[in-house]
Amino acid sequence: MIMNIKRNHIIWNDISATTDLLNKPGKRISILIHINPDGDALGSSLGLLRLLEKLGHTCTVISPNDYPEFLKWLPGTDRVIIFEESASIALDTLQRSDMIFAVDFNSLKRVKKLNDGFNASKAHKVLIDHHPHPDMEVNCVLSDTSASSTAELVYRFVREAGFMSRMDKDIASCLYVGIMTDTGCFSYNSSGRKTWETVAELLDLGIEKDRLYYLTYDNYSADRLRLLGFSLNEKMEVFPEYRTGIIWLTREDLQKYHHSVGDTEGFVNYPLSIKGIRFSALFIEKEDHIRISFRSKGNFAVNDFSRKYFNGGGHANASGGESFLSITETIRRFKELLPTYKDALSDYEI
Ligand code: 5GP
Ligand code: MN
Repeated sequence: MIMNIKRNHIIWNDISATTDLLNKPGKRISILIHINPDGDALGSSLGLLRLLEKLGHTCTVISPNDYPEFLKWLPGTDRVIIFEESASIALDTLQRSDMIFAVDFNSLKRVKKLNDGFNASKAHKVLIDHHPHPDMEVNCVLSDTSASSTAELVYRFVREAGFMSRMDKDIASCLYVGIMTDTGCFSYNSSGRKTWETVAELLDLGIEKDRLYYLTYDNYSADRLRLLGFSLNEKMEVFPEYRTGIIWLTREDLQKYHHSVGDTEGFVNYPLSIKGIRFSALFIEKEDHIRISFRSKGNFAVNDFSRKYFNGGGHANASGGESFLSITETIRRFKELLPTYKDALSDYEI
């Protein structure tokens, strides 16, 4: 079975009702991001937060759970409310909002228990996202799957809404981190001219590109590096006949290396750097489920694969999912699926 990637689906609604509201200061605005937020979710939401505050609104970012240590230097992180730690404050803030921006996700499954709060709210709702298949009831959808990142779309929104005069170095830095992290430092999802034009404009706004890279990627603990070494040495399995590589980590493995949120971010990419490998999976044992990340190169659509077998979704070449079997059973199931996809995994030469 060959899975072909469908690209470039765009829904870009009229933004005039949204800009009319934003042009009247004093609104209470929540910016909602997805569970296990990444650099794009944080960069997009914090960039937007600072811009909306400069327009005279009271803003909060609401995250379902905690986010990686290596992103906590981003300007405005003190404005993030973590639902898992402060549920009633998060729900109350959402409930009292005049507007809600949903950024970097497009299905309420991705915000877990904040789902009901979002649905119950009468706020004006805006979705800004670049994942395929938007599936949310909102007033304004700004979705473009050809964009590198949600951060790039936030920038497009700012320009089209006529708010460019409010852009500054901090907002630009947040948006740059979103673009940089969602493109693997411009190694994928970044072949479009618009991405590079956006980066050029962010450079004009004074971002210190190299410093933003160091702050993001040279900011790990020694434990994280040792966990990576252990993962590659002892927990990686390669299946050359299926051009697939996997890594799996148990709770015990994570505890041994004093794991903190975000430490395994990026691990899934390592098997893909092996010659000939084009499908990679990372299995992480959580308290009550297995969290899975998938990555691929070429036409093998890991969002379809994840949706079909692991209750997930995402992008064609980067997706996530979950399993409620044990880690051993989950990996067994995964391995059993590989023969079905042997041809699909062989149809692409790098
Ligand atoms: P990651 O492996 O980095 O957690 O996620 C990779 C990509 O897939 C991200 O764009 C993320 O938003 C998306 N993603 C991760 N998990 C899920 C999931 O369970 N459902 C959906 N629809 N998308 C997911
Ligand atoms: Mn993203």
